[in-house]
Amino acid sequence: MSTKRFDENVKLDREYIYSLIENAKNTTTDEEIDRILEKAKNKKGLDHSEIASLLEIENEDQIKKLFKVAGEIKKNVYGNRVVLFAPLYISDYCVNNCVYCGYKCKNKFQRRRLTMDEIRQEVEVLEQMGHKRLALEAGEDPLNCPIEYVLESIKTIYDTYNKNGVIRRINVNIAATTVENYKKLKDAEIGTYILFQESYDEEVYKKMHPNCVKGNYEYHTTSFDRAMEAGIDDVGAGVLFGLADPKFEVLGLMMHNEHLEKKFGVGFHTISVPRLRAAEGVSLETFPNLVSDDMFKKIVAIIRLAVPYTGMILSTREDEDMRKELLEYGISQVSAGSCPGVGGYVASAGNEKTDQFETADERTPIEVISDLMDNNYIPSYCTACYRAGRTGEKFMNIAKSEKIHHMCKPNALTTLMEYAADYGDEEFLKKAEKFVREQAETIDREDIRNFALGNIEKIKNGERDLYI
Ligand code: SAM
Repeated sequence: MSTKRFDENVKLDREYIYSLIENAKNTTTDEEIDRILEKAKNKKGLDHSEIASLLEIENEDQIKKLFKVAGEIKKNVYGNRVVLFAPLYISDYCVNNCVYCGYKCKNKFQRRRLTMDEIRQEVEVLEQMGHKRLALEAGEDPLNCPIEYVLESIKTIYDTYNKNGVIRRINVNIAATTVENYKKLKDAEIGTYILFQESYDEEVYKKMHPNCVKGNYEYHTTSFDRAMEAGIDDVGAGVLFGLADPKFEVLGLMMHNEHLEKKFGVGFHTISVPRLRAAEGVSLETFPNLVSDDMFKKIVAIIRLAVPYTGMILSTREDEDMRKELLEYGISQVSAGSCPGVGGYVASAGNEKTDQFETADERTPIEVISDLMDNNYIPSYCTACYRAGRTGEKFMNIAKSEKIHHMCKPNALTTLMEYAADYGDEEFLKKAEKFVREQAETIDREDIRNFALGNIEKIKNGERDLYI
């Protein structure tokens, strides 16, 4: 059967996906699942029917095996590094009426977009938390939040420094737009352009976006084609799990990724896995496809097997325990200390703030970082690849080679040391330095090990932004 299931208009073949799900129902024998898991270990991905089979497994032993292989791949490709970031909401004006979203235009509340001064204040707080990488978020509203405003905001963020604090990479999550606007975003030096498909099932998609601009399924699914045409080579996808059949969504995601790989030589840089949360005017009981914890864990592990080199992002929509568990077999980036609302980082009394959805992990970044180290993970604020031009296909080729470890680990350790020196108290600095030293000692190449160890003293002496 042909694997080309996106036609020229990037339209998914709905019947084909449902037939894959149907046909997979009797394919979960131990022999077949073992064969698929064995194949996955080669890190060359899986075909559609294999992904569909894994999505069917319910047997505890098979699930354990799935998590084990996903864990091995995760460790092999990403080591024990975890990249940290925070979202920054700049505007909650929105012309859409997305059924699942707290920002739907039907919801009446005092909408707001940040002034450049307010953005600077927000960024200073984020820098004070140690963040170096942001995801800029805005509702869709061409009048109140035009592209020029977004561009000015990006410039303001990059130009805002607070002592040693600086934002080095801004990923942008704004509504699907034109090639011309994507070119402007590229010129503004964004990192990844992020856009969640919400649902790949066209019927569900249309129901979820009634009478609104975002309701144009075709325009939405072709957004990455336009972004890549405009020269943005890192795109970040996602599905809002809880809207449609999750098996359909995983297969849709994988087909979308294949489409980009074929057309542009590189697929998604990252995949986010947001799960639906309660929000203003959004009650979870009205959604029949909510994804259980068990299914959610399986999904993360299966995506890890299917696209081993694509970063996976988990937000504070999930609680501490879920975040901890998913780091084991799939997730490579997490947000920390997040506020999913406009002006949320500057606590200003009397300024009522409406969040886009509820969060479940309220820990501060320093608590997250401390906990990660206790669990032998290296919290990383690294943004080196993007600034050294290692993006798109170039990045993927490096990621598929051993070279990646000789860049990522020393860079991650260096950013952790930088964080500890700038934002930790004496006790934290001691703990981080000990951890960085121990981790650096495990680097096998002498020159790289010396680079990481040498940076500890350099940072203590005031040097910053050291990377390979
Ligand atoms: N306006 C942009 C757009 O239309 O794509 C930005 C999206 S918004 C700031 C970021 C994402 O939050 C959405 O794409 C959606 O997947 C997610 N989201 C919206 N409502 C949510 C909810 N109730 N629970 C969890 N995630 C939600």
